[in-house]
Amino acid sequence: MSELRSALDGLAELDLAELSDDALLDLVGELSVTANRVAAALTSAVRTADRRESYRRDGAVSMKGWLRGSCRLAPAEATAIVSTGRRLEQLPATAAAFAAGEITATHARAITKAMTPSRVAKAAEAGIELGETDRILAELARQTAPEETAKGVARWVAGVDPDGALDDAADTRRRFTMASGLDGRVHLRGDLDAVGGEYLHTALAALMNGDRPAGDTRGHAERQGDALVALARGALDGGSLPDVRGERPHVRVTIDWMALCAERGAPGVAGGELGWAGPITPETARRLACDASVARVIVGPNGLPLDVGRAQRTANAAIRRAVEIRDGHCVFAGCDAPPEWCDYHHVVHWAHGGPTSCDNGALLCERHHTSVHEGGFAIARDPGTSHWHTYRPDGTEILSRAGP
Ligand SMILES: [Zn+2]
Ligand SMILES: [Zn+2]
Repeated sequence: MSELRSALDGLAELDLAELSDDALLDLVGELSVTANRVAAALTSAVRTADRRESYRRDGAVSMKGWLRGSCRLAPAEATAIVSTGRRLEQLPATAAAFAAGEITATHARAITKAMTPSRVAKAAEAGIELGETDRILAELARQTAPEETAKGVARWVAGVDPDGALDDAADTRRRFTMASGLDGRVHLRGDLDAVGGEYLHTALAALMNGDRPAGDTRGHAERQGDALVALARGALDGGSLPDVRGERPHVRVTIDWMALCAERGAPGVAGGELGWAGPITPETARRLACDASVARVIVGPNGLPLDVGRAQRTANAAIRRAVEIRDGHCVFAGCDAPPEWCDYHHVVHWAHGGPTSCDNGALLCERHHTSVHEGGFAIARDPGTSHWHTYRPDGTEILSRAGP
């Protein structure tokens, strides 16, 4: 182990910037194989300690518990290592490929996960030899990415355990949970049956690809996240959702009057609070309160409500329509996100006396509405025209690609 450690120390001292592309890519390839070998060695060591119940020395009740406590592994990771180690004992070809660094831990996991004792027994009853299966799957893992290997494994499962494979597919239960974390973000988790997933995917794909603005550099996951929020906003705005306690459902933000009137970045002002997701910064609260489709509760210094602004969609619809016709798309320099992606932004915030009018309105997509309220960017329109200017936080203008 000490030689391995000093080799790693030597590696850390290497000046990567000095390497040629050839040498650098060789190094990446070598390290990737080495990482696989280290993962395989870890799996074997864990298996040996698991068999000997070495974890009892430290008062742990299982190897998984010991890995979580002493190595701070996530529960799923600890389970994966222990279970992979156990099942690899019956799969010498896969174990050898892993030990040689030819396949990754993800490949090994894809194979071992499917090899439950009951399936191995069923395969034996059906006369399918485990050794042969092991050799075929290990070779598949050597040749393909983990997803492809998993498909091959699924075919084996369908062959030996058609009922089990069908059971998986016939499970129409759907689970979805969301929780607001301490980091101020909301975490989603869930799994759906194939049909439910197809509905969701179809709706999200339409939102992702229908009106993709020019110069969009978001990755797939980011676009899909934005599409999920757009789906919810569309449902709220479209009025297709059932009433809740006699009211149309809407997002509600509670915001301190002082925070609403304060300038951006002013010290010592409290932020706002969302009905479910909890605290938000003063800038975010101002942005939400800017759009008339969000219901706002404004509280005074004593925490008592001063004003409960109702979501006045109908009264503002004509003004919003006029702004849509004038602006056509998000007015931020270089953005052409369509109106249905946009908020109605008050150029002079209504808290500072700005009216909800065509003159004081601007279409901003959610992203750029955020840039203006939270990012310190500013927009201004040449009076009497539909020509907009966008300014960076330092006051310099962003010249639009399409601008005059
Ligand atoms: Zn705004
Ligand atoms: Zn925009």
